[in-house]
Amino acid sequence: MKPETKPPTSPVLDYLEQLHREFAAVKDGDVATYIPGLAKANPNWFGICLVTATGAVYEAGDSRQPFTIQSISKPFVYGLALEDNGRTEVLKKIGMEPTGDAFNSISLEPGTGRPRNPMINAGAIATTSLIAGKSAHTRLQRLLDMFALYTGHGVTVDESIYRSESETGHRNRAIGHMLRNFDILTSDPIPSVELYFQQCSVSVTARDLGIMAATLANRGVNPVTGKQAIRGEYVESILSVMGSCGMYDYAGEWIYKIGMPAKSGVAGGIIAVLPGQLGIGVFSPPLDAHGNSVRGIKVCDAISRHCDLHLLNRPNIGKSAIRFKFTGAELNSSRVRTQEESQVLSQSGGGIKVYQLQGHLSFITAEAVVRDVIGDFDATQQLILDFKRVLTLNESACRLFYEILLKLAEQGKPVLFTHTGHMPLLRRYLKAKLGKRFEKLFQPFDDNDLALEWCENRLLKNVLPARPARQRARVVEYELCNHFTLGELKTFASFLKRQSYKAGETIIHIGAEAQEIFLLARGGVSVFVPQAGGARRRLATFSAGMVFGEMAAIDRAPRSAMVVADTEVECDVLSLDNFDRLGVSHPATKIKLLKNLNLSLCHRLRKANRELSLFD
Ligand code: GLN
Repeated sequence: MKPETKPPTSPVLDYLEQLHREFAAVKDGDVATYIPGLAKANPNWFGICLVTATGAVYEAGDSRQPFTIQSISKPFVYGLALEDNGRTEVLKKIGMEPTGDAFNSISLEPGTGRPRNPMINAGAIATTSLIAGKSAHTRLQRLLDMFALYTGHGVTVDESIYRSESETGHRNRAIGHMLRNFDILTSDPIPSVELYFQQCSVSVTARDLGIMAATLANRGVNPVTGKQAIRGEYVESILSVMGSCGMYDYAGEWIYKIGMPAKSGVAGGIIAVLPGQLGIGVFSPPLDAHGNSVRGIKVCDAISRHCDLHLLNRPNIGKSAIRFKFTGAELNSSRVRTQEESQVLSQSGGGIKVYQLQGHLSFITAEAVVRDVIGDFDATQQLILDFKRVLTLNESACRLFYEILLKLAEQGKPVLFTHTGHMPLLRRYLKAKLGKRFEKLFQPFDDNDLALEWCENRLLKNVLPARPARQRARVVEYELCNHFTLGELKTFASFLKRQSYKAGETIIHIGAEAQEIFLLARGGVSVFVPQAGGARRRLATFSAGMVFGEMAAIDRAPRSAMVVADTEVECDVLSLDNFDRLGVSHPATKIKLLKNLNLSLCHRLRKANRELSLFD
């Protein structure tokens, strides 16, 4: 037996540990002492945590060491104030301009008296005063509940740090009174200042900070718990003020070099957020002259450079939305066609355009799609847009699809949408815009195959003369009986047994022993294979005159797919016993039969090969 080997560690983790080793050696900076409780911190504490927006958590060093969140609470409380009051009300009280001053500067905007931004203490105290709740207790509880959503667990106030700051926080009280003087605070400032001290004393770890940052990176949804901590629409406001003001008088250099919205606290914590991608939390108490963690800045700077994370240096994603494009001449639906129909499809199916879309549909990615459609407008008769692999879709993309739908509809060209179940916004948007025309113009399909069949049928109806609905195929019309003489037809007919099925009935079960070949006399049947999650995929649909279930006649293997009657169905069944007997009594007829069988398998193999090479 092979000894069990441990799976290797992640290279991301190895990297964080290497950074940790490297920067643990840095001994610059001083632990904050102006809040006496903070002075007790061990300057060697050093934790790093990186969390992806998809919920992977990587930790190195003292990532579980508790400390107080301090100013890192400010952007999160700002988010709650926005939810409680709306953006307009909040902006009446607090601006959004960086000051270039220290965090505790006593600076208000001349004229309005507004604190310039919510990241300096004056703005943060004004923000805290906007938190809804009848009593001091409820307001604090609401803050703690909010932090619990961000961290994924209950949080508490570190009472000794809170008391320590409250006993010495005269400057912040002065700021509170000044805000009261300018009517930014409209009642006694002290309860708001106390609540501010409490929010700053919430106990967290570097791991918590990483997850909180990743929650902002994930549009407000905690990627570890899946819970929404803040409405997505406010995340941009939080990140904006972090981007411009989060690092106080170091904000400009920070965004220039590291390029991520960030926030630091005097206990030594820092968070950095790369929207849509990841969050970083670092903890190391010694601070530089700006009040930012020395090692924290070094770690963020290194990660940003090594991993190429600068927000303003992003790749071109314009062409990423079109995964694959094909026409109805290159690929057909799984409805098996007659030769005549197949010919029409290969000649004129080019007017059916199918776009498989993927990834994130926003203005710029959707623009590339509609540009392509417009570029091919004259050659397009019917358009299928497949959303199966689309991850997100925003309103500006919806708008472009709506406009393109109108342009095609004006020319009588249908647009079919497939796999839109996970895109409720698209449906809502089109419904609102199209009004009464919605039912007619919005044509959703469960999958591409059905949409393609719909387009093919429409094309065939326009091109081929209308055929009377076939009553029932005579033996001479079976594709399996091509080139049979009258005598052979008669002999063959005597080997067949008539069988009927109701619509929806399963004619062939997966795994069953094969005992017969089916010649479809009337109605239609479809072949399916089951897929994960209970769904099933259609492999083929047959109509009268065609043969099915013939593969097992050749290799005698158990049935590998299920066949279901789409309508009421009549079949002429050739048992495998009779198939064998025919060879003994009428070998020449059997040879013709086998030739025809070969031909039908050949057609299907060719189609499968075309599909494979097309999708390669
Ligand atoms: N509670 C601290 C203060 O108001 C927060 C400051 C900070 O972390 N920069 O002084």
